[in-house]
Amino acid sequence: MTSQQLEDALLAFVNGTLLAGKTPATATDRLFEDGFIDSLRVLELIAFLEDTTGRKVADRQVRLATFRSVRAIALTFAGDASASASDETDALYRYHTDVSRFASPIVELRRRGELIDPDGTVRITGLAARLFHIFDYVFARWARELGADDVAAPPVIPAATLERAGFVSSFPQLLLRTTGDLAYSPAACYHRYAALAGTTLTNSVVLGVHARCRRVEADPRPLERATEFTMREVVVLGTAQDVERVRHRLLRRVDRFVTALALDGAIEPASDPFFASESAGRALAQRAGALKHELRLSLEDGRRVAVASFNKHHDHFGRAFDIAFAGQPAHSGCVAFGVDRWVLAFLTQHGFDERSWPSIIRDALERQQAHAAS
Ligand code: ATP
Ligand code: ZN
Repeated sequence: MTSQQLEDALLAFVNGTLLAGKTPATATDRLFEDGFIDSLRVLELIAFLEDTTGRKVADRQVRLATFRSVRAIALTFAGDASASASDETDALYRYHTDVSRFASPIVELRRRGELIDPDGTVRITGLAARLFHIFDYVFARWARELGADDVAAPPVIPAATLERAGFVSSFPQLLLRTTGDLAYSPAACYHRYAALAGTTLTNSVVLGVHARCRRVEADPRPLERATEFTMREVVVLGTAQDVERVRHRLLRRVDRFVTALALDGAIEPASDPFFASESAGRALAQRAGALKHELRLSLEDGRRVAVASFNKHHDHFGRAFDIAFAGQPAHSGCVAFGVDRWVLAFLTQHGFDERSWPSIIRDALERQQAHAAS
């Protein structure tokens, strides 16, 4: 197949199937950067490409440069340019950069006095804190754009709420109890389901919530796997379609953001939906398809940390908390950002020289400074 033939076939598929009814793309339009195609649709595009060329697309070929436009794809995959090898993992989208210059920022942060953790609780100041606020602001803005409010949840929650949510039976090892009937919040979103317990929703809702969370971590590492960390979440309750729509929009947001930040990592299915320890939950997980995806970013030795998770709960919380919508237990989902880990991954991959940072972060730092000065 010539690259012109492949280009024609791809364009027909993109416009006829993926974008059916929307503004059509031309062969040279930037599919991702201009928002024609998102990280979910790229899966369909890859499947079509594999069917048409009769060859497997290797994970390492799934890069922005290769998939930038229909023409770029056709030029790469026509003829015998494409290899038949395929990686083992099942990434939705991959971001590759030069990993050889990655270095842990922890020692340097301590040297600068920007990471203070005398007793296991971590505090950051200076540049690290400014980065933290930029990431937090970006995630909060995405939530607002989806119509969410923004609740600062308390650091503790009744243990009975976590029991009702199924957290205690699924993850007893993570739970840190405090005095009386309270536990430390292991995630931010439980506060929001609890507040809606016993209600009937008249509309689907998108909610914003952030909290300082605490978990028991067997092998804690500052910022990466801390016993105390900040989680910002977007929660959606309504129908299964409402959940999918919000999840999808946030996946697109995250996809573009990580691309603009030139961060190395991948969005991948994750295997541990929170209630999969129950056999009913497992069966459900199989029926409902992937319930959890994570954006994992690379650290200095090739290991990856999840910096965001995209979770579908089906009607689990709707049932557990007796929240109804349209005559049924509400469906729900949450997208959770671990803000501390974004700071860690960013500094690991980009270092401390601000002049070499991606422009969106440099611009945000400037705006922050101007704001502080005014
Ligand atoms: P992991 O697989 O890394 O243990 P998880 O599956 O427990 O994460 P979630 O429960 O989905 O994660 O939490 C949402 C997000 O909160 C994670 O993607 C991560 O960014 C952040 N997070 C979770 N635990 C920690 C921790 N101990 N320290 C820092 N951030 C964390
Ligand atoms: Zn959540």
